[in-house]
Amino acid sequence: MKKYLHLLLYIHLTASLSACQPHLPVKQSTSTNKHTMSDKQAYYSRTDTSQLVLKDEEWKKILPDDLYQIARHANTERAFTGKYWDYEGLGTYYCAACGNALFKSDSKFASGCGWPSFYESIRPTSVKYHEDKSYGMIRVEVVCGRCDSHLGHIFDDGPPPTGKRFCMNSISLDFEGDEEKAPTGNAK
Ligand code: FE
Repeated sequence: MKKYLHLLLYIHLTASLSACQPHLPVKQSTSTNKHTMSDKQAYYSRTDTSQLVLKDEEWKKILPDDLYQIARHANTERAFTGKYWDYEGLGTYYCAACGNALFKSDSKFASGCGWPSFYESIRPTSVKYHEDKSYGMIRVEVVCGRCDSHLGHIFDDGPPPTGKRFCMNSISLDFEGDEEKAPTGNAK
């Protein structure tokens, strides 16, 4: 009986931890994702919400390789290695490829899956969804609503009020803290 329980626990943990990780692990660059706006390519904007359509060769030219592999080829960073999976800063998460606002930190929760997890996007149009039948699974892929870059997947095991878990790659996200937006404020 004990053996059986251990087996069940092992299967559960394996399934939950591998939910987002069917792809080859991506080697992350040593550079931090904390770019200043001047580091960004010309298409990056946190205010322009118009659709951004670029050819693959252009994306390859303007994005760091680790971001390019995830954003444009749906790869996945290794669990528990990204900079945001257990990050608790207060602020906003943007698409690292184009600057589109995606999530607020108040919708982030500790899923324990090894990737940053949110229960809702900032706006319904911040993201788009595609059916993903790769790797013998049926999942729902989440892409940026502005530039169609791959962000991760969404699952139905999140907390209230939505019950959703947006399971995202840290590399696909740029974080800006609330205090960075309002340097004169006293907010922590
Ligand atoms: Fe984007």
